[in-house]
Amino acid sequence: MNHWSLGFDIGGTKIYGALFHWDKSIPTCVHEITLPTEREKGYPHFLSKMAEIITMLCDQGNILPHDLRKIALALPGSIDPESKIMLSGNTPMLVGKNIHEDLKSHLNFSPSLAFDCENDGNCFALAEVHHGVGLKFQSETGIHPEKQHALGIVLGTGVGGGIILHGKIYNGHRGGAMEVGHTVLVPGGVPCYCGRNGCAEQYLSGLALEREYFELTGVKKRALEILTSHDDPAALQVKKDYFHYFLNFVANLVNFFDPHYIVLGGSLSKHKEFYSFFDKNLGDHCFLPNTQIPIYPFHLNHTAGALGSLLRKI
Ligand SMILES: [Zn+2]
Repeated sequence: MNHWSLGFDIGGTKIYGALFHWDKSIPTCVHEITLPTEREKGYPHFLSKMAEIITMLCDQGNILPHDLRKIALALPGSIDPESKIMLSGNTPMLVGKNIHEDLKSHLNFSPSLAFDCENDGNCFALAEVHHGVGLKFQSETGIHPEKQHALGIVLGTGVGGGIILHGKIYNGHRGGAMEVGHTVLVPGGVPCYCGRNGCAEQYLSGLALEREYFELTGVKKRALEILTSHDDPAALQVKKDYFHYFLNFVANLVNFFDPHYIVLGGSLSKHKEFYSFFDKNLGDHCFLPNTQIPIYPFHLNHTAGALGSLLRKI
């Protein structure tokens, strides 16, 4: 049956909203909007802005809000599955808030409209399994997305991720599963905003690459420029360290979850060397013999988080 829904990907700097039209189980993004989060203006402003975007997207699609079947949000933090409160994240304005309930009452939703919130890394992984990389994997192996185990890792300004088991998000007891950016890679290392030292995010994010390069050279260079450099000795050193950390990080996750495949998202994942490097080296760092886990770049573009937020069955 055809229907409409709205998915959002909420970041610390941008809000992305998309209107999806569903033809049975096939979604098509028909309209989209990206606006600054303006987190400095506070939480009530955020709620008003969301209401404004919902109206704008419905207007663009020439539909009314009550034509929507579902509104869902991918959020930059851990969402408690019971209370729906965002327990942690890198956008303080949203931490401790029940965005689920606050938006529902702010927008005065009809009781029949479904509403959902989920961690953005989980949403990315879920969308890729069911509408992106997972379809390619199915065509190669015959394994249906509902049977797939997949690991999504998002490398951007931070490091996030999601684990999909049997085609569904595994988000743990309090929504904190796969907060992999805050597993310690270097004991006693760089302080992290979460309160620990040496977290993966402090070594594997784009900001971390830029910081390492700056500390070595006193020069500012963008993360992707550092990764793609072939003749700058400092960039090559930073890149070598980065790949060393990332290989250990991924091998640890593979030893935990033994997924069918890994999908990388975020701005850094566009760097092609990741894939040749891991095809060559990952197996040697995993416990099981003959480990050859495919590692893919994302297939869906910027829509993955918003789409994934809509895919959970609630
Ligand atoms: Zn941390």
